[in-house]
Amino acid sequence: MSLSREAMLAEMGLTPLWVLRQAGEQAAEPAVAEAVAVPAAAQPEAAPLAPAISPTPVQPSSPAVPPVVMPPAIADADWDSLRQQTAACRACPLCEHRKQAVLGVGDLHPDWLFIGEGPGADEDVQGEPFVGQAGKLLDNMLAALDIARGQRVYIANAVKCRPPGNRTPEAAEMAACRPYLARQIDLLKPKIIVLLGKAAVHSILHEDKSLASLRGRRFEYAGIPVVVTYHPAYLLRNLPDKAKAWEDLLFARRTLREQGAGDLPF
Ligand code: URA
Repeated sequence: MSLSREAMLAEMGLTPLWVLRQAGEQAAEPAVAEAVAVPAAAQPEAAPLAPAISPTPVQPSSPAVPPVVMPPAIADADWDSLRQQTAACRACPLCEHRKQAVLGVGDLHPDWLFIGEGPGADEDVQGEPFVGQAGKLLDNMLAALDIARGQRVYIANAVKCRPPGNRTPEAAEMAACRPYLARQIDLLKPKIIVLLGKAAVHSILHEDKSLASLRGRRFEYAGIPVVVTYHPAYLLRNLPDKAKAWEDLLFARRTLREQGAGDLPF
C-alpha cells in the first residue's frame, strides 16, 4: 500500500484494519471481515479503536427509475450550452442568492459520477463542487479508490445554486434542477453513480427512506447502476460511519467491476 493511500485511510479513520490488497489478490472486502473477526483480546495493546463493521449484504436491485423529462433546450445541450443555461437559470428562488451556478467538475468520460447535495459557501465562491472540508474528505475517499478529482470521476450536485445558509435544498428546488443533472448524466454516461446523502437520493431515485435502509442495494438510473452512501459532511460529524461509507465504496467498486470496467487499478 502506498503511503499516501495509508494516510488517506487514516484520514477516513480506517487504518490499520482496512488493508487494500494489490491487483491479482482476492478482493479487499474479506480482509475487513477477517480483521473484524479478530477477538478483542487478541488485538495488540496499541490497536486503535475501530468501529464494528459487518460486510454489506447485497440486496436485490430495485426497479429502474423513470427517465427525467427535459425541456428541448436542455435535452439537446452540449457542455457549453449547459453551463450557459445553468448560469442564467431562474427556475427556482436559489438563483437569487447565488454568486454563481456550480455545474460540476471532472472527467467528461468518467467511470464514476458522485452526486452531492448543493454548493456551500466555498463552492459558491470558487464555482467548483466539494472544495470545503467535506470536499477534502471526498477527495480522500476517491484516493482510497485510486481515483483523483478529474481522472475517471465527475462530481456534481443535486442543485447547482447554493441554498441560503447551506440548508438542505427543498424538493421543488431539486425538481427545478433535475433536468440539468439528467442532461449531465446523459452526456457523461458514467458506469456507476454514487449518491452522497439524502438530497441526491431524493433527486435521482425519488426515494425518501433512510440512508441506512438504502445502503448496499443496487439501484438503476437510465440503465446505469446507482449506489447510495452517506454525505461527507455527515461523515465529518459522525466519524464511526466512515467505515460504513468505505463499505459502500467497496460495494460500488464491485458493482463497477461487474459493469466490465476491468482496468481498475486494484
Ligand atoms: N456539499 C455538497 O453536497 N456539495 C458541495 O459541492 C459541497 C458541499
